[in-house]
Amino acid sequence: MITCEECKGFCCTHLAVPIDKPVNLEDYKNIYWYLYHDKCSVYVDLEGIWYLQVEVPCVQLDKDGKCKIYQKRPPLCKDYGPHDCEVNEEEMLIHFKTVEDYDTYFNALVSKKRTKKQKKQRRN
Ligand code: SF4
Ligand code: SF4
Repeated sequence: MITCEECKGFCCTHLAVPIDKPVNLEDYKNIYWYLYHDKCSVYVDLEGIWYLQVEVPCVQLDKDGKCKIYQKRPPLCKDYGPHDCEVNEEEMLIHFKTVEDYDTYFNALVSKKRTKKQKKQRRN
């Protein structure tokens, strides 16, 4: 297992917030909006929850990868540890790091929906 000492605070170099899971084509198109922003990516975790990830380091992270306010760090940080963190366990089902990554996914999705619609029309 990689320790916090070894990884030098990788989890403190970005933040991730849950976003609404897309449920229709308009929602899926809106995911592009996140990806058009610098330092932003979108990922889906193993439970199917969608997240926006922003590559901005916490201002409390020192140059040696240590927390400057370790004793007073937020509960969110206290609850996160090396036993099940992103460098030691697979947390992401899929990670859209670029618009191109998402294009591939989105085009496949549209094509799948189109095929499904055509099959339905043929049956009626
Ligand atoms: S919790 Fe995981 S990602 Fe965060 S500093 Fe420790 S080993 Fe690195
Ligand atoms: S407060 Fe400390 S532990 Fe929490 S993200 Fe910032 S540097 Fe990391």
